[in-house]
Amino acid sequence: MRLVVSRVCLGLSLLSALFAAIVPASANAEFMRRTSEDALVHWDKPTIRLPVDPRLAEIYGPEIYDALADAADAWAFDAQVPRIELAYEGSDEERAAAADEKGNWIGVITEGWPYGDQLAVTVSTIGAQSGRLVSTQVWINAQRPLALDVTAQDKHYDLRGVLTHELGHVLGLGEADHAPEATMFPTFRRGETRQRTLATSDELAVTNLYALFDVQFLSTSCAASPNTRMSGSRAFAVVMTSLMASGYGRSWRRRKTRRQRR
Ligand SMILES: [Zn+2]
Repeated sequence: MRLVVSRVCLGLSLLSALFAAIVPASANAEFMRRTSEDALVHWDKPTIRLPVDPRLAEIYGPEIYDALADAADAWAFDAQVPRIELAYEGSDEERAAAADEKGNWIGVITEGWPYGDQLAVTVSTIGAQSGRLVSTQVWINAQRPLALDVTAQDKHYDLRGVLTHELGHVLGLGEADHAPEATMFPTFRRGETRQRTLATSDELAVTNLYALFDVQFLSTSCAASPNTRMSGSRAFAVVMTSLMASGYGRSWRRRKTRRQRR
């Protein structure tokens, strides 16, 4: 029985170890993530409840709620894809659980950001053998220049695009390193807003993923509690997907992206 990895600080190295062996088999295969047991990462229920940290509105204004709704709507174009149900009054208890990598969450970190220079990260707990997502937490880095309304000349990064990208991770997608047109491309440029809108490759990826899993035939109650589902899988892995800002800082992912662009 494999160890449960529960420390997010291991996430980055674990991510590369888990997914390094994947060779894209088709145009959007790279959007999909596989566990070390070669299982496709996915939800097994039609609705994903995502509690929203009220602190997001304190920092970015109440417009953040519309931006979140728009981001969720962007992914709601196909009935076969699980719906992200935003719960706008995330509690202190849910925030604390999220910090412990338990429960779903979208929140903000205002100081002591632990993930280098990323704009945002999504931490996911996945059944290694089944590929089933157990929980996912999105964290926005308030220490980086993110804004809801940016222009081409703006020095800010587009928070709306960042939210859309991270919700793609919530649904189970990975980084689309070879698809610079995609929302799931893992770097952002200042003032650029195109990642608010899904590319055809994003849509195909999530549609093709959930065509493999009939989530609409599962009732919410069948999805049961995380504990029930955890009992069906012996090994879990916690992985982290992170969003990089183009032209800022260094990481293995950014260096890789730059090489590919040349
Ligand atoms: Zn990402």
